[in-house]
Amino acid sequence: MPIPTALSEPFWQGCAEGELRYQHCTQCGAAVFKPQSHCPQCLSERLTWRAGSGIGVVYSFSVVWRPQTPAFEVPYVVAIIELSEGYHMMSNIVDCDASSVHCGMPVEATFTRMPEGMVLPFFKPRCGGPPTGTATAESPEGSPG
Ligand SMILES: [Zn+2]
Repeated sequence: MPIPTALSEPFWQGCAEGELRYQHCTQCGAAVFKPQSHCPQCLSERLTWRAGSGIGVVYSFSVVWRPQTPAFEVPYVVAIIELSEGYHMMSNIVDCDASSVHCGMPVEATFTRMPEGMVLPFFKPRCGGPPTGTATAESPEGSPG
């Protein structure tokens, strides 16, 4: 299980509330993830938290058949998700057959409370709705600032 730090706590709190949060640089406008103390692009420390759409596409992925520990049920899919806000994050693709996962596949965040009590963000196939990939095209339930 991941261990929240002072830096990442807002992200994990967002997961617990069903929101995929990321940092926004008020200096250059970059979307920042993982949580940082300063913007990797302009080095500004003026980062604020925003609630993201949770919508994106599979950027890259790998199907795992030999897990690091027996606690994992195989096969499972580890993927890099390109979020509509323009940042990437690593997660698992769930709720679908591993063989159906492909690059460019539309996905959306889904939150799962683990037995340990922590809520983790995963991604599942996204059916219907408008095409993704264009940042700021929509802002559902977003409350920036
Ligand atoms: Zn910046």
